[in-house]
Amino acid sequence: MKKAQSQIATAKPSEKLNTEMTRSNLEVVFLGTGTSIGVPVIACDCPVCCSQDMKDKRFRSSILVRKGETTLVIDCGPDFRFQMLKQKVENIDAVVFTHEHRDHIAGLDDVRAFNYIWNKRINIYGCKRVMDSIRNEFPYIFNETRFFGAPQLDINVIDNKPFEVKDMAIEPIEVMHNKLCIFGYRIDNFTYITDASAISETEKAKIKGTKTLVINALRNSKHVSHFSLKQALGVIDEIQPQTAYLTHISHFLGIHEEVQASLPANVHLAYDNLKIEVGGEKA
Ligand SMILES: [Zn+2]
Ligand SMILES: [Zn+2]
Ligand SMILES: [Zn+2]
Repeated sequence: MKKAQSQIATAKPSEKLNTEMTRSNLEVVFLGTGTSIGVPVIACDCPVCCSQDMKDKRFRSSILVRKGETTLVIDCGPDFRFQMLKQKVENIDAVVFTHEHRDHIAGLDDVRAFNYIWNKRINIYGCKRVMDSIRNEFPYIFNETRFFGAPQLDINVIDNKPFEVKDMAIEPIEVMHNKLCIFGYRIDNFTYITDASAISETEKAKIKGTKTLVINALRNSKHVSHFSLKQALGVIDEIQPQTAYLTHISHFLGIHEEVQASLPANVHLAYDNLKIEVGGEKA
């Protein structure tokens, strides 16, 4: 696919990240690792929100996943535009949604930059409830009388069965977010779960064997719709991945450096712009 002619002079593709990695490896970039309100929180003067450490500055949770020629983002929150600029993302093939909460969908309108630059439509994936919600939240995108310049998106309704985005095989993992059934995703040896408060044994079985597990840990005290740090560590202990990363973090969890020092050796607090590589096909 060629970029739109008029844009070629202003945007230069750099395939550096792709060429640096083995084709079968996944590259994952944490675009955001914060809870719904972000960190720092507007008008908060707590030590975390006042920290000068860049690892204490968290956009709303989202990741970029690359494998071979395929690039997608999981979720597209209110910080999407700045996340794309920060990472100099040249192109995406798809947006895959975990669920319909604002902090995971609010940036959808900005996907249209990729429509303009590459002169192509973008596929979006999510369960029927999520797609209905997106239609309601962004009616102008899907109306028959859509206006010129609106995002050009193709809806792909998925259920709890494996699906593919180009050559990337993705397996949904159904988790509970309080009473809402939402999706995490397993891609090869990598599993991404955010906004979970419970995972059934059947779904945990689908995660087993994953080398790298990302899971949400909101804060130290319990919360009705998110795992606490202790609960997240409990899931990690059950799944036994080689490496685990915690995400969807609130300012209540504490200073990054201090929390990191308290964690088991194979568990890391994720932070914005962290890049990891996950090797090998699913066993
Ligand atoms: Zn969230
Ligand atoms: Zn704060
Ligand atoms: Zn949520």
